[in-house]
Amino acid sequence: MVSFENAGILLTPLFSITYMIQEVDFHSHTVHSDGTLTPVELVALAKERGIKALALTDHDTTGGLDEALAAGEREGVEIIPGIEISVVYEPGTMHILGYFIDHKSTRLQELLKGIQRDRADRNPQIIKKLNALGIEITLEEVVKESGGGQVGRPHFARVLINKGRAKNMEDAFRKYLGKDAPAYVNKRRVLPEEGIRMIRDAGGVAVLAHPKLLRAEAGEFDGILDGLVAAGLEGLEVYSSCQNQEEAERFKAAAERRRILVTGGSDFHGTNKADVELGHMGSWASMTYEALSRMKGALAGRN
Ligand code: AMP
Ligand code: FE
Ligand code: FE
Ligand code: ZN
Repeated sequence: MVSFENAGILLTPLFSITYMIQEVDFHSHTVHSDGTLTPVELVALAKERGIKALALTDHDTTGGLDEALAAGEREGVEIIPGIEISVVYEPGTMHILGYFIDHKSTRLQELLKGIQRDRADRNPQIIKKLNALGIEITLEEVVKESGGGQVGRPHFARVLINKGRAKNMEDAFRKYLGKDAPAYVNKRRVLPEEGIRMIRDAGGVAVLAHPKLLRAEAGEFDGILDGLVAAGLEGLEVYSSCQNQEEAERFKAAAERRRILVTGGSDFHGTNKADVELGHMGSWASMTYEALSRMKGALAGRN
C-alpha cells in the first residue's frame, strides 16, 4: 500500500510503497517549466501532505513564484522563492538551485530572458531532427502541450507518447530526446560560476542540485565541489528522489566536510515524473525545518 507518513499520519493506501513526507521540500516544478501542476495546485498538495515549507524551483523561470507565494500565504505553507539553472557541464548534467532570490530584480530577469531565448531557439531544431527521423510533429503541437509555460523536452516527450512514438517519458528520452539520442539538441547554457553569481547577485543562496547527475567519480567530484564552493556555492542537495541512501550518505559527508548547507528535495514534476511524490526524497532522508533555519541563518550572516 502507498502511505504518506508525516508526524505519524498515514494517508491513502494504494500501492506497496511508503512515502516519508519531509517537513521541508527544497525542489519542485510547476507548469511554468516542466511540471504538470499549477502553482496553486502545488501549494494545495503541499498543504494536504503536511509540508511546512516548499521551494518552487522551476527551470530557468520565476514565472510561477508570485502565484505560489500568494497561495502559500492563504494556505499557511511557507513558500521559498527559488529557481533551477542549467549550466555548462560535460558529460553529465549540472543544475544550480537558487533560494530566496529577489525575483523582481531587473538584472536577474534580463539574464533569464537570455536563457529563455536560447531555450526557444532550440525547439525548432528539435522539431527538424524529429521530422528528419520521419516523425510528423509541429512546434505548435508541443507549445500546446506545454500549456503556455516554458517549452522543454518533457513536452516534446508527451507529444511523442500521444502519437504512439514512445511508451513513456523514459522511452521518449531514450529513443529521441536524451543526450545520446538522435533528436538531442543542446541548449546554450551559462557557466557554473555565472549561474552561482546570478543567484547570489539576486540575494539568493546557491545549492548544487542532485549531485548524482554529474556522473562524476568520487575523487573528481571533490574537485568539482571545491571549485563551486570557491565560486560562492553554499549548499548541496544531499537528499533527492534520484539519490539512494548510500549516495545520500556520501554527499552528506562531502557537505559537512566543507561546512556547507545540507538540503533535500523531491524534484516533483507532477505526472511528468509519475513515480516522484511531493515531499518524498527517500525513507532515510531527514529534512526538518532546522535545515531551512540554517539557510536563513546563512543569509542573515551575509553582509
Ligand atoms: P530541458 O530543460 O528542456 O533540456 O529538459 C530537461 C528536463 O527533462 C529535466 O529537467 C527532466 O525534467 C526531464 N528529463 C531529462 N531526462 C529525462 C529522462 N531520461 N526521463 C524523463 N525525464 C527526463
Ligand atoms: Fe525538469
Ligand atoms: Fe534538475
Ligand atoms: Zn528540478
